[in-house]
Amino acid sequence: MKIIIMGPPGGGKGTQAEYLRDTLLIPHISTGAIIRKAISEKTPLGLKAEEYIAEGHLVPDDIVIAMVKERLGEEDCRKGYILDGFPRTIPQAEALDEMGVTPDCVLCIDVEDESIVERLSGRRECKDCAASYHVKYNPPQKEGVCDKCGGELILRSDDVPETIRERLKVYHEQTEPLEEFYRAKGLLRMAKGCEELEDTTRNVMRALGVEK
Ligand code: ADP
Ligand code: ZN
Repeated sequence: MKIIIMGPPGGGKGTQAEYLRDTLLIPHISTGAIIRKAISEKTPLGLKAEEYIAEGHLVPDDIVIAMVKERLGEEDCRKGYILDGFPRTIPQAEALDEMGVTPDCVLCIDVEDESIVERLSGRRECKDCAASYHVKYNPPQKEGVCDKCGGELILRSDDVPETIRERLKVYHEQTEPLEEFYRAKGLLRMAKGCEELEDTTRNVMRALGVEK
């Protein structure tokens, strides 16, 4: 099964993608996580991507497309995967088509702009395994510590208010048109994002046709 998961920054798509990974037992491929790893390792790609992310802009299509192409060619992707954060532009979606990838469905988590700032400023991410938490909606068992690996939880540098507003603008301008792109192909499934994590998960499973 190949699932694309999209939605505004901080809309909870990473968390839902982790849930789907654990339920469907297919890899979770997050372009944001791949890019952040490249930045922390200071690879050539990471050095290029860093300035875009810091300003809340998208990393150029050619860089991200090359990255995804490489990742999807790996062995563990043969049975399917959850693509989180890709495609994010029409040219990226077209590149995916050209790679011969047809998703089974495109899940879009729908969240109002007003809730985004609160969600993002409360978001914490594990420095080591990139698991994501929210201080209020999805807290770890021990404050500041990852439940999964014991790593330190940090606030991402792009989760500050100025950058959040820019990311929302970019989302509306560049990513939202994908809804129409995939609706036209009959692949789009909308799921309403809620305050409570479990409510969002229920909507996601319903949108995928699995009752929970
Ligand atoms: P969020 O959805 O909360 O913004 P992500 O981890 O998915 O978080 O992405 C973080 C940043 O990584 C984005 O703001 C963007 O700069 C970059 N990025 C991730 N995926 C893509 C993509 N497909 N194309 C371009 N840039 C991307
Ligand atoms: Zn961790």
